[in-house]
Amino acid sequence: MENCIFCKIIAGEIPSNKVYEDEDMLAFRDINPQAKVHVLVVPKSHFAMLAEMNEAQAELVKKCLQKIPEIAGKLGLSGGYRLIINQGKDAGQTVHHLHIHILGGQDMGEKML
Ligand code: 5GP
Ligand code: ZN
Repeated sequence: MENCIFCKIIAGEIPSNKVYEDEDMLAFRDINPQAKVHVLVVPKSHFAMLAEMNEAQAELVKKCLQKIPEIAGKLGLSGGYRLIINQGKDAGQTVHHLHIHILGGQDMGEKML
């Protein structure tokens, strides 16, 4: 997808600090971390919203979710972590390529925000 920053990162056109990659997904450190550990897990198919996801993309998201415990283990998040998927403007979604935030490496507190 043209002009999508995450598609460019997946294509290697923009550098990223990768923590995991396979044929289905890429995980890399957020450029503006909101916790001690902040990683984005991105399926290698361009779509922004769960509402517009097709079956093949749903399969990729499933694979991302199944892989996250292993990625979290590699990141040393033995104490736990928080996952966030922002959807749309009220959520503050700024990159319109679906991505799962992994946040941790510290006590995230009981409140979501
Ligand atoms: P959103 O608000 O859309 O859920 O999250 C987008 C995230 O992507 C933000 O946390 C932002 O810091 C991150 N981000 C935006 N551009 C880049 C980039 O070029 N490289 C990396 N590593 N992260 C980015
Ligand atoms: Zn994209």
